[in-house]
Amino acid sequence: MKAIRLEEPWRLALFSADEPGASLKPDEALVRVRRIGVCGTDIHAFNGNQPFFSYPRILGHELGVEVTAVGSSSRNVHPGDQCAVEPYLNCGHCIACRSGKPNCCVSLQVLGVHADGGMRESMVVPARKLHPSENLKLDQLALIETLAIGCHAVERARVEAGEFALVVGAGPIGLTVVQFAIEAGAQVIVLDINRRRLEFCRERLGAPFSIDAGAENPLEALKRITAGDLPTVVFDATGNPQSMMAAFKYPANGGRLVFVGLFQGDVTFNDPEFHRRELTILASRNACSEDFTRIIGLVESGRIDTDPWITHRASFAEVITEFPRWTRPETGVLKAVIEV
Ligand SMILES: [Zn+2]
Ligand SMILES: [Zn+2]
Repeated sequence: MKAIRLEEPWRLALFSADEPGASLKPDEALVRVRRIGVCGTDIHAFNGNQPFFSYPRILGHELGVEVTAVGSSSRNVHPGDQCAVEPYLNCGHCIACRSGKPNCCVSLQVLGVHADGGMRESMVVPARKLHPSENLKLDQLALIETLAIGCHAVERARVEAGEFALVVGAGPIGLTVVQFAIEAGAQVIVLDINRRRLEFCRERLGAPFSIDAGAENPLEALKRITAGDLPTVVFDATGNPQSMMAAFKYPANGGRLVFVGLFQGDVTFNDPEFHRRELTILASRNACSEDFTRIIGLVESGRIDTDPWITHRASFAEVITEFPRWTRPETGVLKAVIEV
């Protein structure tokens, strides 16, 4: 079968790999990979700046797949089912797994990051990590994982209807946070320096407020929008150290600050300011199984429309030449999808 591997930064190679799945364990399933979404993690790995990443690696963790065979004890899926993949392989017995937080398992292996992912024609995955849908298209199934990141962050923060929620950074991950904060009934404010992305938030996702950080002072704009209160919950989805540290200024007294994006380094903040406002800081990592189930329901019912998301598309053979272009923001890429 054909597979694509990131050999080292900036070098993807098409190669021929052995067909997997000759003998499946009882809890495994063999799947044919049909769609692969490309996201920031893949881009960072390509550019050589993804934390905890080693080469060579087969990328691909946003997957729309079709089941071809199942192990003897796998009952949740059957050959022919089309599924989204929850790419977080957890151990099942560490403190996080025992507390119902497999998304931050002590020895977590994310497909396409710490273990080989889906840029190949077939692969073996634990059957319990497959989330089937009879109604969704393969493109939609490939978007479930990316949506799950925003869904989980909004759930971590326990966003309530009516509260002001600020989302800093309207890249693909920030947009998923915007989507679920709106779904939770928050009054969403988006902060970015990219006008095109702010426009997308207002016009395609329905965010009521946006702040162009290049044109106005964010803190003044936030005070104006919230009648001086400031937002009660702030998400940073930039993964940019300056932005993350500046975000400490934005939450209201008693508010929460949620870091969705991450970078390789230390976050520092002024302690008296942090204490004065009794802030709660939260990290949000990956997503949980229930998030996948919930999102599939929301997309099936039409409450979440995935159509605006996909901006670029390539066949498997075109990936080697197309991928480097997706790393450049000026190409306007929001979500590129590979068809296998
Ligand atoms: Zn991703
Ligand atoms: Zn674990």
